[in-house]
Order: sequence, then structure tokens, then C-alpha cells
Amino acid sequence: MAFDTLGLSEKVLAAVEAAGYKEPTAIQSGAIPQVLERRDVLGIAQTGTGKTASFTLPMLTLLEKGRARARMPRTLILEPTRELAAQVEENFEKYGTNHKLNVALLIGGVSFSEQDKKLDRGTDVLIATPGRLLDHFERGKLLLQGVEILVIDEADRMLDMGFIPDIERICKLIPFTRQTLFFSATMPPEIQRLTETFLQNPARIEVAPTSSTADNVAQFLKASPSKDYEKRAALRELLEGAEDLKNAIVFCNRKRDVSTLFRSLERHEYNVGTLHGDMDQRTRMMMLDNFRKGNIKLLVASDVAARGLDIPEVSHVFNYDVPINAEDYVHRIGRTGRAGRSGIAYTLVTPEDQKYLEAIQVLINKTIDWLGEEIDFEEAARERKARRKSGRSSKAGSSSNDNETDTAKSSGRRRGGKAKPEPVESLEEISDDAIPSTVAKMPQKPAGRKSKTDKLEPAFAPGVHIPAFLLREPRPKKAS
Ligand code: AMP
Repeated sequence: MAFDTLGLSEKVLAAVEAAGYKEPTAIQSGAIPQVLERRDVLGIAQTGTGKTASFTLPMLTLLEKGRARARMPRTLILEPTRELAAQVEENFEKYGTNHKLNVALLIGGVSFSEQDKKLDRGTDVLIATPGRLLDHFERGKLLLQGVEILVIDEADRMLDMGFIPDIERICKLIPFTRQTLFFSATMPPEIQRLTETFLQNPARIEVAPTSSTADNVAQFLKASPSKDYEKRAALRELLEGAEDLKNAIVFCNRKRDVSTLFRSLERHEYNVGTLHGDMDQRTRMMMLDNFRKGNIKLLVASDVAARGLDIPEVSHVFNYDVPINAEDYVHRIGRTGRAGRSGIAYTLVTPEDQKYLEAIQVLINKTIDWLGEEIDFEEAARERKARRKSGRSSKAGSSSNDNETDTAKSSGRRRGGKAKPEPVESLEEISDDAIPSTVAKMPQKPAGRKSKTDKLEPAFAPGVHIPAFLLREPRPKKAS
């Protein structure tokens, strides 16, 4: 099928040609004619399938008729994150080069006054995150009665981020006669309910079965120990062994692990950047831009960064942690193998990850291959149980549980001063981050009781100041 059979305007077709696209992707050929017919659309599509153009191209065509009025946007696109909103704006710039449309972006972390000015000029396309949109609405700077097309993008991500009440509120503020385009990669029951409430007789376009993973992504599991420094070493081993690694996103479950891992990789002289929800908008954009341009090779990211990032040529994805929500796995690995390219996704699996891994394999309806030795989860669970039992009987005071992955717990931090430190492989690793400096300076094996004739070995790492009295030979006790 060719683009010029879909009903798009000449201006849009010229931009598509300039973008170098030869033919529409499945979601594009399914959705574009329906949008142009002014039907509601329910698009079930993974990231990387060309979903963004499936709504921007027909919207541009429809917007060629009519004009925007001050503070009354003609179309509204809701995105769960600032990055996604900014990417949609870039898409409008790219495909709308032959149009003179006003596009405004309402996202957090940017001053209200600039955004107000844009709204006052009249907006054809308003791209917003739900919270910032409602802020503007409540300040009386925005009227939503003029919205003709509403796009709700990445709805399942909105659900994960707790935006559904905001979305429901926004939907009620927009005329019922609007056209609604609704996109989600997965259809959990809450999303299903939303579509039944807010879409009218939608054309349903599903380009891949719900929660299936892209076929062109080769997926592998790699067994890893649970301890943080060992896990980081396992990741480095994977990075070193990965063939044709051009650039990669490394996903962590927790923000603090994003920072820890980033610092660790930096110390190991990788060309690395980081992206997570706590960074300010400017830094995030700069980071993404550098990654896109190839100035940064590895991007350590949290799941906020997982959805929809338009980074065309990510060759690899590494899951430093098995995601706790199985659907995040689909989204994470969707960062590679985009638009027909092939990609590779590796997942580090610890003995505590069994239930998360099983949920993923059920969701994607596929058993992922292990690279190297597979984890015997039953055996690992038995060992943990035995360790706990012996820990209890020796009153070691450790409170670990089966699914414990907490950095502080697994590094011995919670055990207090009396506990033995975990054995350490190298001081370089232990100084990495996770273990407090007092513990980090301990010797690998706790010094046992010395016999009178033993020389005292300093129980400190090289370079650490040791009080002189500790290095003195003990005076032999006088015989009484
Ligand atoms: P998306 O799913 O919207 O994030 O798009 C994924 C990538 O596919 C982006 O880099 C787009 O530029 C690219 N793309 C979109 N449509 C096409 C097409 N028809 N042919 C080739 N690449 C495309």
C-alpha cells in the first residue's frame, strides 16, 4: 500500500516523502483512513510501530481547514510524560513543515507565562501532560470547548502513572461531539472501561496481539547474583560480550538504582548518561539529545523513560532488573527493534525474580532463552529458606525475605554495626556506592581471634588512616 491511497493532503504527503518513508506501517494504514473519516479510533499498538504518525498525519490534513481562536485549542493530545509530549511536538514540526500551524506544548517544568502566551495566540495543536493541562484550565487560561479532536496516547502508561482520574475529568470538559483517538499498547480492564465510556463506536485497529513483543527483538535471560556489586559486574560482562552494540538503554526498577548504576558505569569508563523522573526538564532533554546524536552510548533509565521514546536506532536493551510489572517488559524491549529493525534485549535475572519472570513469560506467551546457565529457582528458594533458618537459630538478626532486592538489605547495611559484612570481591567494587564507607573498609574475612603470637594485620583498606596504637604489637600479658 502507498501513502497516497490513504486520503492524506498533498502537503502531508510531501512531508512524508521528505521523511523518506516508503510505505505506511500497519497502524498507519489501518488508522489514517478512519481518522480522516472522522471516526473515533481505538489503536492497540506497540511503541515503535509508527503509531505517532498514524494520528499526526491525518490531524494535519484535517487541520488545513479552519483557524484557531485565542485560548481555544482545536485539537488536544494527552501524553503521560514530558518526553513523549516533546516528541509528539517534534513529529508535528517534522510532518507539518508545509503547514503554518500553531503548536503548543504544556508540560511541567516549563514556565506558565511562556505557555500562556502561546495559548493566547491561538493553538491548532495542544500537546499536554494531564496535570499541567488541568493547572492551566483551573487558572482560567484555557477553554476546551473548541477541541475537535482529542488524542489519548499511551493510555496504559497513564494508568500506571495514576492519571486516569485526570483523563476522565478532561474528557468531560471537552464537547461530546469531538473525535477521540485512543492509543494503548495493552488493554487492561481499567483501560477497556475508559474506552467504553469515552469512545463512540470506535474503529478498532490492533496491529499486534495485546502485549505481544516485537518478533524482531531477540530476547535473552542471564543469571545474576542478587548482590548489587555482583549484579553490576554481571551487567558489565553482558555489555562487553554484546555483539554489534551501537547504543543501549539500561533499565532499572528504582530511581536510586539508576543513579547508582550510572555512577558505577561512569567509574568503569563507559560512555553513559542517565534519565529518570527526578531530573529537570532541561537536563532530560539535553541527555536525550546527546543520546540521540550518539554522544552518549549507554542510557541508564527508569520506566518513566520507557514508553514511546523516539530513538530510532537503539541496538540493545538491557534490563538491569526484571520489571515488576510484566507490561513494562514489553515497553522496555520495544525501545529496540523499532520500525522493522532488529534488536537485542538482555535481562539480568536473580534467584529472587522467579515470579516476575513467570508473569512476563505468561504475558508475552513465550519462553525466553537463557544465555549460559539457567537459574534453578526451586533450589535457590530451598537455599534461602535454609539460610533464613540457620540465621534465625544463630540469632544473626537478619530480616531478609524471599523477594528482597533492597540495596541496603542485601549489602548488609540494615544489619547494624554488629553484623558481619558480606564478603567482598574487590575494594574497587565495594567503594562503588551501595555499601557505607565504614563497612566498605572492612577486610574480606572478618579477623578472627588472634593468638598471642600472631601479628596484628591491619583490618583496613590501603590508604585509610589507621590510628598508630592499633598497629602496635600487643604486650604479652604478665604471668600472674
Ligand atoms: P513511533 O511508533 O511513532 O514511536 O515511531 C517509531 C519510528 O518509526 C519513528 O522513528 C518514526 O520516525 C518511524 N516511522 C514512522 N512511520 C514510518 C514509516 N511509514 N516508515 C518508516 N519509518 C517510520
